[in-house]
Amino acid sequence: GTGLDPQHPIKISPGLCPPSPSSGSVRVSLPVSLGQVSKSGGTRQSPINIQRRDSVYDPHLQPLRVSYDPASCRCIWNTGYFFQVEFDDAAEQSGISGGPLENHYRLRQFHFHWGAVDERGSEHTVDGHTYPAELHLVHWNAAKYPAYEEAVLGEKGLAVLAMCLQAGARHEALQSTDTRAPGSCSQDRRAAMGPFNPSCLLPACQDYWTYSGSLTTPPLAESVTWIIQKQPVEVAASQVSAFRELLFSPLGEEEEFMVDNCRPRQPLMGRRVRSSFRPLKWG
Ligand SMILES: [Zn+2]
Repeated sequence: GTGLDPQHPIKISPGLCPPSPSSGSVRVSLPVSLGQVSKSGGTRQSPINIQRRDSVYDPHLQPLRVSYDPASCRCIWNTGYFFQVEFDDAAEQSGISGGPLENHYRLRQFHFHWGAVDERGSEHTVDGHTYPAELHLVHWNAAKYPAYEEAVLGEKGLAVLAMCLQAGARHEALQSTDTRAPGSCSQDRRAAMGPFNPSCLLPACQDYWTYSGSLTTPPLAESVTWIIQKQPVEVAASQVSAFRELLFSPLGEEEEFMVDNCRPRQPLMGRRVRSSFRPLKWG
């Protein structure tokens, strides 16, 4: 589904929800400098540059099946590295299957990466082109692992559905004008959110690339099946600008704006990127 859901827009507030020490989520250790995340010693690291001409059309790749229950949306919080929207993953109600996946993967959270300026921000690049931001919907393999924390570190544990954001028409579901309401952070440093259906963030075109890679934040585990939408999602430039008003720093400390929370491209190391669509002959 690609229908907009203006009834339940994402509202982003600067300073919203600094990291909660009591969080049970897998968290990045902060601050994460680009130097820290640029070295891992692994052979299947992410992100990568997707070279269209080098990707291989795989006719066996099925369309991705996406089914999200808006009622499973729980909260939005500032992890200290990006802002994240979390979902109830105790049951199978929200997730993806098909595509390159052998199992159903449950939706856990989604988050964005973005730059200080429009010329950078996406983690993946396409033919060397960098977009101002990138959206990651993180899912885990509950058929194979009892808990998300184990899936993060396990073979075929995660599936991340990714798409780049490009400047264009305003995206109503990504309503981010409500940046003057920093008081919406609850005592436990999260804000309740929902219902929200993240399928309204997906592009209309279902074509994708897929490859085996890693998390782009610590622990950089090579557990991720990446599914990257070919079509970028259009958002207004002002909507990306609103991300840049968020803060890395906790409330009460010197303000440090949350920008450039993206990892540099990693070497392909012999991996093959498959595409669900035939490449353009003239491409
Ligand atoms: Zn990410």
